[in-house]
Amino acid sequence: MRSIIAERSREKRVEDKVFTAAKAAMDAVAEHGDRAVNATLGVLVDEEGKLVTFDEVWSTYLNLDVAKELASYSASFKGEGEYLDELQRWVFRGIDRRFQSDAVATPGGTGAVGSTFKNYLDPGEEILLPHIGWEPYWIMATENEFTVSEYKLFDGEKFNLESFKEKASKIMEKQGKVMAVINDPCHNPTGYSLTIEEWQKLAGFLNELSAKGPVILLNDIAYIDFSYKGIETRKYMELFNNNTENFLVILAFSISKTLTAYGLRTGAQVAISTSKEVVEDFVRANEFTARSMWSNVPKGGMKLLSKIFSQEEHLNKLIEERQGYVELLRERSDIFVGEAIEAGLPMYPYRDGFFVTLKTSGASEQERIYKKLKEKLIFTIKVNDGIRVAICSLSKRKIRGLAARMKEAFDE
Ligand code: PLP
Repeated sequence: MRSIIAERSREKRVEDKVFTAAKAAMDAVAEHGDRAVNATLGVLVDEEGKLVTFDEVWSTYLNLDVAKELASYSASFKGEGEYLDELQRWVFRGIDRRFQSDAVATPGGTGAVGSTFKNYLDPGEEILLPHIGWEPYWIMATENEFTVSEYKLFDGEKFNLESFKEKASKIMEKQGKVMAVINDPCHNPTGYSLTIEEWQKLAGFLNELSAKGPVILLNDIAYIDFSYKGIETRKYMELFNNNTENFLVILAFSISKTLTAYGLRTGAQVAISTSKEVVEDFVRANEFTARSMWSNVPKGGMKLLSKIFSQEEHLNKLIEERQGYVELLRERSDIFVGEAIEAGLPMYPYRDGFFVTLKTSGASEQERIYKKLKEKLIFTIKVNDGIRVAICSLSKRKIRGLAARMKEAFDE
């Protein structure tokens, strides 16, 4: 008997670990109050536990013209022109750029990653992912019928360039083309960011590799505006001025984090290439995907960004407001990392961003520690080879002493 659902959709099932764990954590907080720690959710909250929203963002949004800027159709599948210009000005702010670029609006960073997957590999081909990473990459690989190869993220405290090189070279030998994902800066879930030297080596290698076939690097920059380096963090993009025409970089940008406007579902793919033709192809194919999947993305999100970013005074207000929270995140991470070192809690190298990840070896150790933490009313998320702790959603008060309690779970 043929199934009603398509063969390729028979096994599809999203197991939402985060929301299931978050529900258990919220119940525990309701029952046990302050003793329970909810480190599950990847959203930024203030010291009182409230979701962070920026005044500059929502006062602008609530003043948009309902008929013209919210309710009416957007005129283009590619995205509103001003939005695409302003977001490129923003992501390339402070860098000397000589490459070609263009952008296509997408529903969130999720849409940017999904559309890129769809348009740069064919079904049956292999994609290179970090061995620890944002889970939807694997879901999208399945959706697009890719096989997955994984590079080890770390060699001790550093980015594991050797593992990346080895895996990418193997794929190039096999399929004559490589697409790899790098989530940087502020990698989810470890909070690692590559140094400029690491970027130099990575870009150098990918340029060399592109002599053998096309190379596409999907650089997921969802958390870029929470880097402790501020605008300086973009400096590595200048390396792309020297890319070969066979090496395309696509940035996945999202207003979910930049404006903490998760619900507005607005993002973009930004192509960077030294070839005009490659960029034109990028727009042509991704605009087509947009038309076939979501037509155009919510107009309000696009209008919101372009209104704020086109007026320096408003943009500065936003930057200042957000900077207060970047500092808060830094204080939280300083407390956690400092105490973790003192307690000898094993964790992956952290530089900046919303999360830290505890290091576990093997599924059974991970399960044991995860359960022990739960018994101590500490709710976290299991990731490949580790346990994610969302410091973005914990107040400094909750973080103090947490590393030592976690260490007990490792030792018991
Ligand atoms: N990339 C990473 C690593 C993320 O963690 C997220 C969201 O959590 C996204 C991309 C995309 O988010 P959104 O679709 O909300 O823009």
